[in-house]
Amino acid sequence: MQLNDTYRHKGLRRQLIDELKAKGIKDEKVLEAMSSLPRHFFLDTAFEEWAYMDKAFPIGNDQTISQPYTVAYMTTLLAVKQGENILEIGTGSGYQAAILALLGAKVYTVERQEHLYKRTKRLLERLDLSNIKCFFKDGTNGLPEYAPFHKIIVTAGIPAVPEALRQQLAIGGILIIPVGKDEGQRMLKIVRHNTNEFETIENDTFRFVPFLKGVNKHK
Ligand code: SAH
Repeated sequence: MQLNDTYRHKGLRRQLIDELKAKGIKDEKVLEAMSSLPRHFFLDTAFEEWAYMDKAFPIGNDQTISQPYTVAYMTTLLAVKQGENILEIGTGSGYQAAILALLGAKVYTVERQEHLYKRTKRLLERLDLSNIKCFFKDGTNGLPEYAPFHKIIVTAGIPAVPEALRQQLAIGGILIIPVGKDEGQRMLKIVRHNTNEFETIENDTFRFVPFLKGVNKHK
């Protein structure tokens, strides 16, 4: 694939950013990161024409790249600061991970589909996003060897919050996770105030692909 960001792509991207603003996204840093990152690099060439619509799209293995509004919404809730360690469960296309990296974070991202893991790792290397480390594994237990994390983001819908993820948050850390049944998930923001003190804030409802157990080795 050729990584070519034309004036046309840039123009479409500006329109997408205006659309996100109109839908209520206000965080300037998030909008700036999203306006600098070509989303069409993360989609199959077949979908290039649609890359700047505010929609989720198939990326293979029954998975999707999240809708730009959802990425903007979750990234705003994460309140990323330069130099933070962030764990992402559900690498998918790598778009969300790339946005976090552009905001200055060191990103650890985990994917259970081997095919997506390999393809996305290669793409992120080509884009020179060297502050992202990709892992092929089931993210249910997080990444204990790199914990604690300042922030954790889960990009698949899950029935309940895995205890391991709460425990891998640093004190003062934030976990953003869509929790609920298949029909819709409530976006939870969980703040770890102290070793045993967690606060849960409920936000809007979204619809994600399901969080699944184990790994899928099909290439
Ligand atoms: N953040 C992605 C969204 C991808 S969709 C993006 O920006 O494109 C969610 C991803 O979570 C899928 O790729 C799916 O395979 C992955 N996933 C689901 N359950 C998982 C698990 N237990 N561990 C790791 N990844 C998982």
